[in-house]
Amino acid sequence: MPTIDPPLALLAELTHRCPLSCPYCSNPVELERASGELSGEEWRRVLREAAALGVLQVHFSGGEPMVRRDLGAMIAEAASLGLYSNLITSGTLGGEREITAFAEAGLRHVQLSVQDHEPSNADRIAGLAGAFERKMKFAAAVRAAGLPLTLNIVVHRQNLDGVAAMIDMAEALGARRVEIAHVQYYAWALENRAALLPSRAQLDAATRVVEAARERLKGVLAIDYVVPDYYGVRPKSCMNGWGRQFLNVMPSGTVVPCHAAETIPGIDFPSVRDASLADIWYRSDAFNRFRGTDWMPEPCRGCDRREIDWGGCRCQALALTGDAARTDPVCALSPDHAVIEAALGDANAAPPPLVYRQFR
Ligand code: SF4
Ligand code: SF4
Repeated sequence: MPTIDPPLALLAELTHRCPLSCPYCSNPVELERASGELSGEEWRRVLREAAALGVLQVHFSGGEPMVRRDLGAMIAEAASLGLYSNLITSGTLGGEREITAFAEAGLRHVQLSVQDHEPSNADRIAGLAGAFERKMKFAAAVRAAGLPLTLNIVVHRQNLDGVAAMIDMAEALGARRVEIAHVQYYAWALENRAALLPSRAQLDAATRVVEAARERLKGVLAIDYVVPDYYGVRPKSCMNGWGRQFLNVMPSGTVVPCHAAETIPGIDFPSVRDASLADIWYRSDAFNRFRGTDWMPEPCRGCDRREIDWGGCRCQALALTGDAARTDPVCALSPDHAVIEAALGDANAAPPPLVYRQFR
């Protein structure tokens, strides 16, 4: 059994409700209803347990966390516990009044998602008319409240050609950082893969733009760039390894090591309603299932990258092979890598219509 360090960060998914319907949303395809959500008191207990466990950062997320009227009280609780708190929001509910109150309650940072630099395409991808305009006002309110701003822009085949203008937009909004992240194909994004996967030529052109902008904007705007797994030859270190640094609490209290883990069959993911976070982190079967390297099959078991990428993503292995315990197929050494080659063929065919995120 490997040594288990305490987690660094908690992702608090306060709700799956959201006014937007992004077709690449990382929420599960089976969204949780409002009636099952943890109460404010339950969330504050989770924050106290997280701080006692050694967590340093809490990311308030969703869905759209600002749907929760008690978000300010949770931010205040996090601040009183010495937790660094970050709000991950679509910026379409509320504005200056709310963000000023959150700053006064102790919020330290805001990540605002924007779907494109071009308003009509941004609204089309978000599935909400007028969303882009609200986001621009929200960004201004964040800056006026004195909070550091990161723009999160998910890129794909239907917006990637505008990456230069996206960077200009982030600079104009006074963001300190922009995260340009290619879609990762789980959950809703997997349903929309044929519509969203870019071509190799599109990807290469965008990468050149990002590299040039990084040079030009050194010290002004930090640019994080997450490339699509499917065009790599080795997988990313998903969550820096299963149960190594991060834990997610879902709206109804289920605790998972990453967004999509609940899809893995045969694992009984525990709830904060039945167990403490410390028990879940250190002792649950769910968090120990893919921890370390003992669970690995070949070729990971004998590979010198096994403690670098931890065998890639368990949820991707499940989605693409039906077995979460296999090597992530995006790795060129995986015996299942042919499924990736086959999917890349879709990137050059006419894209099918988008399937928008919705309650089913
Ligand atoms: S990805 Fe889009 S739909 Fe999903 S939570 Fe974020 S803003 Fe809402
Ligand atoms: S074989 Fe496994 S450990 Fe090695 S690079 Fe591929 S996924 Fe990573």
